Amino acid sequence: MSALVLVVDDVPANVKLLEVKLANEYYDVIVAKDGYEALSQAQQHKPDLILLDVMMPGMDGFETCKKLKEDAELSHIPVVMVTALSDIADRVRGLEAGADDFLTKPINDIALFSRVKSLVRIKVLLDELRLRDQTGLQMGVLTEGQNTFTQDVSGSKILVIDDDVIQLKRLTERLAQDYKIEGVSKPEGAINIALHGNFDLIIVSTQLADTDGLRLASHFKSQEETRSVPILMLVDEDDSRAMLKGLELGVNDYIITPVDYNEMAARVKTQIRRKKYQDALKSNYQQTISRAITDGLTGLYNRHYLDAHLDNMVRQALNNNKPLSLMIMDMDHFKEVNDTYGHDVGDQVLKQLSDVVIRTIRSADLAARFGGEEFVVLMPETDAKQSKEGAERLRKVVESTSLKVTHSVGQINKTVSIGIAFLNEMGDSGQALLKRADKALYQAKHDGRNRVVSADSD
Ligand code: GH3
Ligand code: MG
Ligand code: MG
Repeated sequence: MSALVLVVDDVPANVKLLEVKLANEYYDVIVAKDGYEALSQAQQHKPDLILLDVMMPGMDGFETCKKLKEDAELSHIPVVMVTALSDIADRVRGLEAGADDFLTKPINDIALFSRVKSLVRIKVLLDELRLRDQTGLQMGVLTEGQNTFTQDVSGSKILVIDDDVIQLKRLTERLAQDYKIEGVSKPEGAINIALHGNFDLIIVSTQLADTDGLRLASHFKSQEETRSVPILMLVDEDDSRAMLKGLELGVNDYIITPVDYNEMAARVKTQIRRKKYQDALKSNYQQTISRAITDGLTGLYNRHYLDAHLDNMVRQALNNNKPLSLMIMDMDHFKEVNDTYGHDVGDQVLKQLSDVVIRTIRSADLAARFGGEEFVVLMPETDAKQSKEGAERLRKVVESTSLKVTHSVGQINKTVSIGIAFLNEMGDSGQALLKRADKALYQAKHDGRNRVVSADSD
């Protein structure tokens, strides 16, 4: 996943070093030599991540970070403070200013790239949610929400899992001053509690005696009910293996033990704020779902919404120089279902197919009902290779899924044909993209159905 990273440092050699490291991993890099330049670069280019030096003449890193977080257009961009100081007080000051993490100089490559990767992943999802919000606003079916990062999060629900009862007691007592806490010292019961507790954050120790804390975290990330709940892991200072493995698994942040309580408080607050922000965006467009922009039968976005959103996405992708792919999917021989079992059964098949689509695509992808038995999936930041893989996966899942119907036949198996197209250089448009995908779909039908075809020009 490519991303634009803004590197801010007053020492040219430091800038160069990070620039080279990031460029080697195929990130695009822009630079700024002080806080003022950082703000203007951020406003102009809207980077995906900012690496911010703490010690700079004029406006220092803390102040720059605070200004970034106060700007509604920039507050969602993750900030990593880069510092020569390992002083706890400075880390806390940075987190209070809204920084998402710290790296200490000299920068360890593994720590750098694991953080960059996980923060960029979160950013891609937030961007897509923000864009959907914007489309809703433009269409007049949404009202402006209070989507800010600075809201009060006291009273939020936190689950703490730690079999070290003394550490657990200290943690929960401290957190209980601001939050509703559930502490669990027997990890076996934790899964059930997490599933039904509707938590805003889960803190899990990686030093559990009889259970693998990382496995627990990975389980939470794979379950529908807990997937979007941020996870903070407690790791031993020397256990960099657990730290990296956890970040790779999707754990959102970590706290080193023995725990510094001020740092913990700041990290907890950052994670919960991010979660609340994401929830607010989601519920804002869930409201819109009940309005004029969804398809009654399938619950997917309708054609009207697709047209508006597609233009926004194309503009954003072209401006930011990011890939965008689109697929059109048409059920094969759907008319037979209607002709054989009746129109009602046909409707059930359509509804179930749309459920399969929603379950199979990624959360940043957007699915819409394009027409009768045709669906369109928009895939932001997805290149030709990734979208072909995605389309092929979807085709296979449909082929192997039995769609349940109330008719005595019980279930029906169907297949789909898929055409994909990719955004080209400047001057390309949503309508042109749709047209190319549609042509590819026609080819897929012509070639025998139940297959994926990419547009010729790509
Ligand atoms: P192909 O493989 O070429 O796509 O064949 P097909 O039978 O799927 O395509 P065709 O375009 O010939 O037929 C599509 C059918 O879908 C015809 C139409 O009556 C039916 N249809 C469209 N919308 C709905 C709907 O909302 N509910 C039901 N039950 N049927 C629908
Ligand atoms: Mg059709
Ligand atoms: Mg069809």
